[in-house]
Amino acid sequence: MKAIQYRTVGEGPELVEIDTPEPGPGQIRLKVTAAGLCHSDWFVMGLPAEQYTYGLPLTLGHEGVGVAEKLGDGVEGIELGATYAIYGPWGCGQCHACAQGAENYCARAEELGIHPPGLGAPGAMAEYVIVDDARHLTPLGDLDPVETVSLTDAGLTPYHAIMSSKDKLFAGSTAVVIGTGGLGHVGIQVLRAVSPATVIALDITEEKLALAREVGAHHALMSDESAIGEIRRLTGGRGAEAVFDFTGVQPTLDIARQVVATDGDIQIVGIGGGLLPTGFFSTPFGASVRAPYWGTRSELMEVLALARTGSVGVHVERYSIDEAVDAYTRLHDGKVQGRAVVVL
Ligand code: NAD
Ligand code: ZN
Ligand code: ZN
Repeated sequence: MKAIQYRTVGEGPELVEIDTPEPGPGQIRLKVTAAGLCHSDWFVMGLPAEQYTYGLPLTLGHEGVGVAEKLGDGVEGIELGATYAIYGPWGCGQCHACAQGAENYCARAEELGIHPPGLGAPGAMAEYVIVDDARHLTPLGDLDPVETVSLTDAGLTPYHAIMSSKDKLFAGSTAVVIGTGGLGHVGIQVLRAVSPATVIALDITEEKLALAREVGAHHALMSDESAIGEIRRLTGGRGAEAVFDFTGVQPTLDIARQVVATDGDIQIVGIGGGLLPTGFFSTPFGASVRAPYWGTRSELMEVLALARTGSVGVHVERYSIDEAVDAYTRLHDGKVQGRAVVVL
């Protein structure tokens, strides 16, 4: 089968031909319909050899949707021929966090060697993918697979961050979204769907700001020093009750720290490697700083439900698997509007 793999540290992704995998006991083989490209893939492919822990070769793709096509021994509750979205942050299924459906915070995944597809386990950017357990599949129903696939990460991750700040997002509050790419442009829509907050979006090109306005941002500003004063002005001096940073580089964290309101939340979702000093005289009284990871199983169901009501949707750029390597270059160069999705 065709697959997009990362094979050599320091090189980019490659289109390769590999064997079609067989599902073992308890596993499900999906015929992949669509797989999304995430900037985290470039984080992984940017690591030096001594920090790289994902295994080689690595089949990419941690956003996946496909049709259940072959069941391993003992699999129950999965309908052959039905379409499913993959819940990616696989956990042990047994610990306290997993029992709550928060497998993204599994206490034992690392020690047990359990990795998400595309981030350790073979991913969905291939004609077929193996899913380790039926609980990691959510039926898609009547949702369009290509338009929905990225909700498994670019939807779920902002949703998880936003829901954990929901008590700050009261009527009259302000939410700042920094970085309106794959995650950010869905985050804006989630904010509009679940809260009455005024949404201010920041990015670095006019095209991205236009998309931010199109998907529901009340204000869209260039992400530079001038944004700090502008956000203060738009909030009557208070600042923003919640800041969602989908970039996480030093300049954006510096903005986040200076625009967050007293008792506000900063959610660092982007893994750009910046640091945010927290403490008296560094952050406002009561401010919280959190670096959330992906989302829970029930939150994926909730994001899909938001898509079903039409309040959240992904702005998709479609590519064939033969074009996937070029699509990765576009993502690397900041040229993708919304999310790039490989359609199989
Ligand atoms: P993306 O490339 O689609 O979007 C990033 C956006 O940030 C782009 O629109 C870009 O123009 C903008 N940007 C770059 N520099 C900026 C700056 N200085 N100020 C404002 N905007 C700026 O990437 P994505 O796939 O949406 O991922 C966003 C980040 O989230 C990445 O760091 C990714 O690795 C991370 N991520 C984290 C999690 C998690 O669980 N925490 C999950 C998925 C992705
Ligand atoms: Zn991702
Ligand atoms: Zn667990």
